Amino acid sequence: SKLEHLRAEKLDTLGELAASIAHEVRNPLTVVKGFLQLMQRKDQDKAQAYLPIALDELERAETVIGNYLSFSKPHLKKMEPFCLSTQLSEVHALLLPLAGDRGVCFTFEAENGVTVTGDSAQLRQAIVHIVKNAIEATPTDGNVWVAMRSEGGEAVVEVKDSGVGMTEEQLERIGTLFYSTKVKGTGLGMTVAWRIIRQMGGDLVYRSRPNIGTEVTITLPAGKAAKSAKP
Ligand code: ADP
Repeated sequence: SKLEHLRAEKLDTLGELAASIAHEVRNPLTVVKGFLQLMQRKDQDKAQAYLPIALDELERAETVIGNYLSFSKPHLKKMEPFCLSTQLSEVHALLLPLAGDRGVCFTFEAENGVTVTGDSAQLRQAIVHIVKNAIEATPTDGNVWVAMRSEGGEAVVEVKDSGVGMTEEQLERIGTLFYSTKVKGTGLGMTVAWRIIRQMGGDLVYRSRPNIGTEVTITLPAGKAAKSAKP
């Protein structure tokens, strides 16, 4: 099935987002407070058992806040031309260990000399979110492919996985605030990615079939850099 993403209208109210963030961060704070109270009562055994949970929850709060910042900051973004394949190969290097840990084969292929304009760090973050989702959706011995080519003035990045896929219903919800099916998900990753790509004048389309996999196509306006020497 194919679904265009038309979520922009839902993302516009930062106030709504802030309220939800407050809600998301309250849980971790409650857990950490509980831990500190155990420490105060010198309940060492319980505190020891509680410690990893408290750390986990703090980490989660950090992620939520980090995502929120990158969500609310895009007005400060840079607009500079950069080499897309360089950023993609960094994403590949960054996520290869995660794929390795999970026994997922992760391959990457990109055309050289394709330039896009925007904030390279933000785009890298957006693509990390998308590829990380692909890896996390894929069972052991599955595959994740990332490929990039230029086509008629556009850079086309494809992220495919042989993972669990999504139903039509799930596809409709992806990219809406806090939609997540993961135990420790924040449901912010796709919202952030979507926004960054849109700001670069790009587009993001998901196609997915349950138990077969998911295909994400990202298109960005591109220019061709001076022809680089092929190895
Ligand atoms: P999170 O990763 O924190 O759950 P996201 O906004 O990045 O938040 O993703 C939202 C949800 O979309 C995920 O929880 C998952 O259910 C679904 N999803 C995203 N990418 C994929 C994929 N490649 N395959 C299957 N499901 C996916």
